[in-house]
Amino acid sequence: MKKYIFVTGGVCSSLGKGIAAASIGLLLKRMGYKVVPMKIDPYLNVDPGTMSPERHGEVFVTDDGSEADLDLGHYERFLDQPVSKLSTMTMGQVYRNVLKLERTGSYLGRDIQIIPHITDEIKRHVYELASESKADVIIVEIGGTVGDIEGQPCIEAMRQIMHEVGRDNACCVMLTLLPYLQSSKELKTKPTQMAVRELTRSGINPDLILARSDYPIPQDQLEKISSFCNVPREAVIPAYTLDSIYAVPSALAASNIHQILQQRLGLPPKGKPSLKDFTQLRRIIDDAFVGKVRIGMVTKYNELDDAYLSVHEALKSACYAAGKHPDILHINSELLESGSPEEWDRLKSCDGILVPGGFGKRGIEGKIQAAEYARTNNVPYFGICLGSQILAIEFARNVCDMKGANSTEVSMHTSYPIVDIMDDQRTVKKKGGTMRKGSYPCHLKTGSRSAKLYGQKVIHERHRHRFEFNNLYRKELEKAGLTIAGTYKEQNIVEIVEVEKHPFMIGCQFHPEFTSRPTKAHPLFLGFVSASLKHGEKK
Ligand code: GLN
Repeated sequence: MKKYIFVTGGVCSSLGKGIAAASIGLLLKRMGYKVVPMKIDPYLNVDPGTMSPERHGEVFVTDDGSEADLDLGHYERFLDQPVSKLSTMTMGQVYRNVLKLERTGSYLGRDIQIIPHITDEIKRHVYELASESKADVIIVEIGGTVGDIEGQPCIEAMRQIMHEVGRDNACCVMLTLLPYLQSSKELKTKPTQMAVRELTRSGINPDLILARSDYPIPQDQLEKISSFCNVPREAVIPAYTLDSIYAVPSALAASNIHQILQQRLGLPPKGKPSLKDFTQLRRIIDDAFVGKVRIGMVTKYNELDDAYLSVHEALKSACYAAGKHPDILHINSELLESGSPEEWDRLKSCDGILVPGGFGKRGIEGKIQAAEYARTNNVPYFGICLGSQILAIEFARNVCDMKGANSTEVSMHTSYPIVDIMDDQRTVKKKGGTMRKGSYPCHLKTGSRSAKLYGQKVIHERHRHRFEFNNLYRKELEKAGLTIAGTYKEQNIVEIVEVEKHPFMIGCQFHPEFTSRPTKAHPLFLGFVSASLKHGEKK
């Protein structure tokens, strides 16, 4: 019998449901169960692809080309297993599917209602994932906060699944927040009680409460939550704010959450989860690191770190592997463009420069100037997707003397369209879900820096873009010292460019950050960080 764990949140958003769900998944997986995660997002976008990363955080891309919520990145990194499009669902998709069926006449004669049609569609998707994945445990995180209007069909679908599979086979974990009142110096449990009451109004009592808090929670408060929320005392688990998300699995394991869930769901007994790699990582971070690597990320979204979450995590992992603390600075590309001396000083203080993915015109010139600075001063440069296109444009402008070289995304009528729209994108008018997405093979050039770093001839990486390096300029740029180090052979797409006479100047059209893992840093990030480290030592 398959087991379902639903993860919900009360009181407010951003409590870390994704990290909690991923940690629970990790613990159960390490015990020996086959686990599959899923995130249901209650918003009405079909996917986050059309949302600004500054509002919603990065768009995570799966191997099979779904544009998904960033929590899927947490799942992949914690569980160290790729997720598929079945692991992501939005209410936008649910309504779209139902309305499509209505138009094709599948419901002829019926009026379409939230219950049962919308809830049935949610359940169909959850059950499909359960059967396709052949998992023992399906962990379903429900985005948003209990009580949100748009999330209500998800909560109702969850109640129905719990009823259908039986309460022995499904349980609900709820994250809540205990606010601290500075004036009376106490934590308050009332918001948790209210949130649980809201959930019980939907017919579900949580089985386990993760009480998020920035301060130690006294025993009597935990007992109070247990008693007022109808949850066994041992299942009220403090979830303190920790200095690293990678400390969460061990902290939860120390509270025995895996055993509580195992017993609650009647899962066959298994051994203790081994978290050796995670605890080792923590120990190294805490004790052994001396010094920092300062990486400047030249970006246009500077208000929310989550806008580049996977790049941050991949950088951190590479720094940890190199035995150094990461020191990631966001450099505002628009300020570079306007010549801000402070921003240029910040850029110059960096050991390495990374330009991540991006869209649109804003801040492009600042990024090109940063690439020029990196190239002419031998500062390690790593360009990802847009950052790779920037590398090629800068090289064309300043090494090959192609004045005004640009991407046609930025300047339609440039005389040197070094980066141009992909052929099969020319006729695409619709914005949502229409880019080149997902994993493609890339052949590496023997002897290139990338081939050495990967130690492989063919790699598979994930993409999300419409524009590409323009093959018309390939010969000329190669002659001037740009190596085409990786290509997608089937369509002759340039995937990796390298500046030859430079300690490290690499751009990749794909997003290597999505496949980096906390204790298995990605080869390109490792190469970039170790080059930055060397550069920092020389400075
Ligand atoms: N805007 C560029 C393109 O569509 C780069 C995309 C990206 O960085 N993900 O090709």
